[in-house]
Amino acid sequence: MKHFDLIRMFTEWNLRSFQGKLPALELRWNSRLQTTAGRFIPDPERPVIEVASYLIDEENAEFLVRDTLGHEMIHYWLWMKQKPYGHTPLFHEKMQEIGVSRYNPVPKHRPFKHCYVCDRCEQRILVRKRLKTAACAACCNQHSNGKYHAQFKLRLEPGLIPAVDLPKRA
Ligand SMILES: [Zn+2]
Ligand SMILES: [Zn+2]
Repeated sequence: MKHFDLIRMFTEWNLRSFQGKLPALELRWNSRLQTTAGRFIPDPERPVIEVASYLIDEENAEFLVRDTLGHEMIHYWLWMKQKPYGHTPLFHEKMQEIGVSRYNPVPKHRPFKHCYVCDRCEQRILVRKRLKTAACAACCNQHSNGKYHAQFKLRLEPGLIPAVDLPKRA
């Protein structure tokens, strides 16, 4: 398995494109992210950037991981400046300035069979096999100290598999 040092990549982006001003935050791999390549979790006490671990297996993994991290760092940068941190005009401006892409160009389509939805955060999780009991990891982490809580149980959405779901960043 290839190895990518997220902290080193963060530092490089930070120096090159954010004047080295972004404070360190938690960076982690998430093996459950399927429809997004990465995401920024705006927790005031402990903000986090997650990168989907499936990117590691892609051919141009290094580019994809770096690109995804850069994208999420723009969300983080806007949030630190107390600006709206979605895909706003300012987001797009910064994106062009530093050279990251809006969409993750991973071409590989995985044949997912089932789609689960978290009713709380609306995250969709695509899987090949049915899950017995599963709760939304993001919500459990955020509201239940990382412990399973039935309140965040994932709901099976029958027959709702996007034919081609180009991975998009959250
Ligand atoms: Zn959730
Ligand atoms: Zn985004």
